[in-house]
Amino acid sequence: DSRTDTGLLDGLDPEQRAAATAPRGPVCVLAGAGTGKTRTITHRIAHLVRGGHVAAGQVLAVTFTSRAAGELRSRLRALGVEGAQARTFHAAALRQLRYFWPRVVGGPQWDLIENNKLRLIGQAAHRTGLSTEVEVLRDLAGEIEWAKASLIVPDDYPAAAARRQRDTPEPPTRVAAVYRQYEELKNSARLLDFDDLLLHTIAALEEHRAVAEEFRDRYRCFVVDEYQDVTPLQQRLLDAWLGERDDLTVVGDANQTIYSFGGASPRPLLEFPRRFPEATVIRLERDYRSTPQVVALANSAIGAARGRPAGSRLRLVGQRPDGPPPRFVEFDDEPAEAAATAARIRDLLDAGVAASEIAVLYRVNAQSEAYEQALAEQDIPYLVRGGERFFARTEVRQAMVALRTAASRAEPGELVPAVGAVLGQVGLTEQPPAGGSARERWDALAALRDLADELSRTVPDMDLPGFVAELDQRAAAQHPPTVAGVTLASLHAAKGLEWDAVFLVGLAEGTVPIQRADGDEQAIEEERRLFYVGLTRAREHLTLSWSLSRTAGGRRHRRRSRFLYGLLPENHPASRVARASGSSGPRAKVRCRVCGSSLMATIEIKLGRCEGCPSTVDEELLERLRGWRGARARELKVPVYVVFTDATLMA
Ligand code: ATP
Ligand code: MG
Repeated sequence: DSRTDTGLLDGLDPEQRAAATAPRGPVCVLAGAGTGKTRTITHRIAHLVRGGHVAAGQVLAVTFTSRAAGELRSRLRALGVEGAQARTFHAAALRQLRYFWPRVVGGPQWDLIENNKLRLIGQAAHRTGLSTEVEVLRDLAGEIEWAKASLIVPDDYPAAAARRQRDTPEPPTRVAAVYRQYEELKNSARLLDFDDLLLHTIAALEEHRAVAEEFRDRYRCFVVDEYQDVTPLQQRLLDAWLGERDDLTVVGDANQTIYSFGGASPRPLLEFPRRFPEATVIRLERDYRSTPQVVALANSAIGAARGRPAGSRLRLVGQRPDGPPPRFVEFDDEPAEAAATAARIRDLLDAGVAASEIAVLYRVNAQSEAYEQALAEQDIPYLVRGGERFFARTEVRQAMVALRTAASRAEPGELVPAVGAVLGQVGLTEQPPAGGSARERWDALAALRDLADELSRTVPDMDLPGFVAELDQRAAAQHPPTVAGVTLASLHAAKGLEWDAVFLVGLAEGTVPIQRADGDEQAIEEERRLFYVGLTRAREHLTLSWSLSRTAGGRRHRRRSRFLYGLLPENHPASRVARASGSSGPRAKVRCRVCGSSLMATIEIKLGRCEGCPSTVDEELLERLRGWRGARARELKVPVYVVFTDATLMA
């Protein structure tokens, strides 16, 4: 009805509305972070569905990470759209392939190998006489993934690698040999990797007319979010979905291309208007997500980028009122950085910010360890995004095996008791154990039980086989059961998402940008875009931190990230640099200098122009602080950290 539709469109600005209400056909939105691209496409889908232009079930929306797909789904649900599909390319292909497999291939279904992929690559490397060290295998896996995403077969790999300006982990002909062996081993064992899901789906659509017709009858309206990161393989799948049709909406930001290392390219986004000359093309520049201070940092960060393609030079204009100044904090070492981050998160929680509205973002997954520990010490619930860990956990794998067995015995009955019984067999007790790794195992199994509970409510006919299929799907998409907690995620996994408070941690050279990018201009630019993606996730509170040494008390030989220079307070007077010194323990035992009693406390002493009070630097106080640090060996088991909030103390 037109009244609800007016309500729907009221939430959009004129440009967003033009994109949302454009007639069916090609639509392209080129715009920066936080300008409402995702909002525009969800509203477009809602508008088309509510207006009767397309049935919800005929809509297929795709994006690149499972969390972003989940975000699309929940935003669609909030707009009252039920039945439209929003998935990652991989999850969409997995689903389609399961459906078409009996017709196009037949025989038993395949198995996914993602968890055993390195082992298979190891076998392939062994056969070709190469080293099977895990680092080498990882590099080889990266090369094979790049080649497959770029639609390059083993025979063509050496020439393609030569054209690309990047070193190969081994001589190209040897990489090609491993790639060939890997494909053979995989095929003979009826195993598929993630890229095969797309390749087989493409083959089914391209080579089986009836399959293509059935598919094209089913899906009529395609939407791609984050289109700047499409690979040739994904584009080919998209083209196979479309056939001769052009009912395609794409949105993206070339400045957020962060997977070009893996074969992605913003070119299809930037060239979309040329490919579809009749397309509705919209540019957005109002940033609705972040405070003007965050927007200013984002503009500076990406303004410094080199070699940006035409069409990507957009300047964001903040729409929100001023917020707290972004904070820059330097630490002596990483444990101190993690502990102070956890302490600050505790403050935010105490101030009423929800845990699910806080994220700690880092460059590489290995960084999560320090933050997991620091958060656990403060009893702050957290959730590691990326999720590969969840489905790789031993107890989860055991539970999956047990659930699969139970499902195959055909189990009519209610889902929740059935799942509960199986989980009981693999060790889920009624009450959680006290702590440590037993508690972690319990939490993982309980997450499966909670998921069954949730699904039994939202999907009324869900049975045990359906539940197992759902778990497979989530495992393939690396989408763990949800838990309410602080998000720990890599910058890559954070794309498209937003939080009230964001901590960008580990902003030191060698991490951001990552070591291997050094000396390679294109790789450095990709790192810069990744940094920009990170900055633009924050709505209100943004903290950027780095540490000079990796280990507590280690040599301080790391420098702050080059990407920070244009952003520091001399260019952005609204932000502040703090300097944290010494290793920290959030629950350090300290002795009161006045009465002599001991207490557990986090010590944070603010000097200079601090946010909270008008205190100024005081030489005598500084002397006393030095005394405290010197005294820690004798008096304190856990070292104390001290925070200075005056930029002039940075030296
Ligand atoms: P990214 O590039 O990071 O994916 P995006 O362009 O997709 O960003 P959205 O996530 O759609 O941006 O929007 C950012 C935030 O701004 C969301 O919270 C969204 O609800 C809000 N927003 C977008 N457009 C409007 C608007 N017209 N009025 C109010 N809020 C808006
Ligand atoms: Mg988005």
